[in-house]
Amino acid sequence: PSILICAGTGCIAGGAMKIYDNLKTECEKRGLPVYVGLKHDTDAEKSLHVKMSGCHGFCEMGPLVHIEPMGVMYIHVKPEDCHEILEKTVLGGEIIDRLVYHLDGVAYPRQEDIPFYKKQHRVVLENCGSSDAEDIEEYIAKGGYAGFEKALFEMTDEEICRSIIDSGLRGRGGGGFPAGQKWDGARKQKSEKKYIVCNGDEGDPGAFMDRSIMEGNPHSVLEGMMIAGRAVGSDEGYIYVRAEYPLAVSRLKAAIAKAEEYGLLGDHVMGTDFSFRIHVNMGAGAFVCGEGSALTASIEGNRGMPRVKPPRTIEHGLWAEPTVLNNVETFANVPLIIRKGVDWYRSIGTKTSPGTKAFALTGNVVNTGLIEVPMGTTIREVVFDIGGGIRGGKKFKAVQIGGPSGGATTASREHLDLPLDFDSLKSIGAMIGSGGLVVMDEDTCMVETARFFMEFTQKESCGKCVPCREGTKRMLEILDRIIDNKGTLEDLDLLEELADTISKTALCGLGQSACKPVQSTLKYFRDEYLAHVVDHH
Ligand code: SF4
Repeated sequence: PSILICAGTGCIAGGAMKIYDNLKTECEKRGLPVYVGLKHDTDAEKSLHVKMSGCHGFCEMGPLVHIEPMGVMYIHVKPEDCHEILEKTVLGGEIIDRLVYHLDGVAYPRQEDIPFYKKQHRVVLENCGSSDAEDIEEYIAKGGYAGFEKALFEMTDEEICRSIIDSGLRGRGGGGFPAGQKWDGARKQKSEKKYIVCNGDEGDPGAFMDRSIMEGNPHSVLEGMMIAGRAVGSDEGYIYVRAEYPLAVSRLKAAIAKAEEYGLLGDHVMGTDFSFRIHVNMGAGAFVCGEGSALTASIEGNRGMPRVKPPRTIEHGLWAEPTVLNNVETFANVPLIIRKGVDWYRSIGTKTSPGTKAFALTGNVVNTGLIEVPMGTTIREVVFDIGGGIRGGKKFKAVQIGGPSGGATTASREHLDLPLDFDSLKSIGAMIGSGGLVVMDEDTCMVETARFFMEFTQKESCGKCVPCREGTKRMLEILDRIIDNKGTLEDLDLLEELADTISKTALCGLGQSACKPVQSTLKYFRDEYLAHVVDHH
């Protein structure tokens, strides 16, 4: 049997490491053979496998302990529960009811039956809850690096790019640009040196999908980058991670060291003429450094500021060389596409947005956490089936999708049944963004929400261009005025005018999308703005 202790940042903060230590001590006390990792000299059938795994996603209920092969998941586990877990469940096969998830009087001892997991389709996050992130052998045993081997030995650079194009994989970082098109563009550049850059900057407030992948499945990110390197003819990659993610940084570095030890990274990989190295670069947490050209400037040691495009990153990226820049989740999809094939990938999700999407589900919803669903899942399914509805029996009001660059959707049937994919959301002025989903109840003031996001982007504006630097400041002043019940009807017109100008003239995506929360709340929740204004008169 295996006992998996969730060692994502959330569960660690809740005391997961103490639980891990206690469980090991309890086993040792009883003289039970315990092993860590896939040790082939150990009789795995008879041994207990106590290990830390990546994030299970059910962060609200942490610390989490998962017991295999029973499939049991215990929630809110305390270090003092370890003795009982081992005695009763692991050795005795008995379920401890008080540690089981309950909903509406029903107990759900098995993880796969818990409503939070039932409608999910965990592809990118699959290993996160079941594997030891630092164990390369476990990753390999589960099919890891098979995609890279296939790309290395059985496919040409053109064929790899063709597969990624045919899969329909779109960048998970925000815009949804077709990844294969980007790769093929970089492949065609005539240059001695090319780079693969992974964006792990994830700056949206409340979003932590990429952090969980880097912490829980770091080899999948490396493998995706290595396949990209092989596809475009690059021998060097950088992963840009914010320094506030120390666990992700240490797991990535440990994974790189292991991959080097196993001959998967370095010179002449597996005796071929392909060489590839990966560096981890830490950023200081500036939201703007999630923008491609600011990110590459930051890696180069310059101030993280966007530049005018074109030239595009695929022509003129890191150190002015052709560069493929994708985010963590995008790269983590790649090994699966190559290994399992384009048809498998296209069988998940929608026609124009194949695959799955990881979301950070937060706000006034019962079950907050990290989820992964097929593209095309509706907002209703996410909020009510997976999220369990609104806390305290309150009414649902809105979801802010895509963080400070996204927009709000309403409780209307049309919005609730809207499929979550790149194109449907754009049609109502929202966007998937990197995948932050903040659920709001009837008590939430949408003007306050818009102000919160505007304050965030205003603070994070790099100041390079006037529309964003000055415009967002003026918009914030107006929002402050409205919230203080000192606003006028003309202020609403001014907000709209400013938002329109900024989104059309700002230099980079940060400014261009900074006004979306204001624009969408003005459109769908105008009455709330008017209530503030009318009160004044
Ligand atoms: Fe900087 Fe904002 Fe201009 Fe982007 S839009 S370059 S963040 S000032």
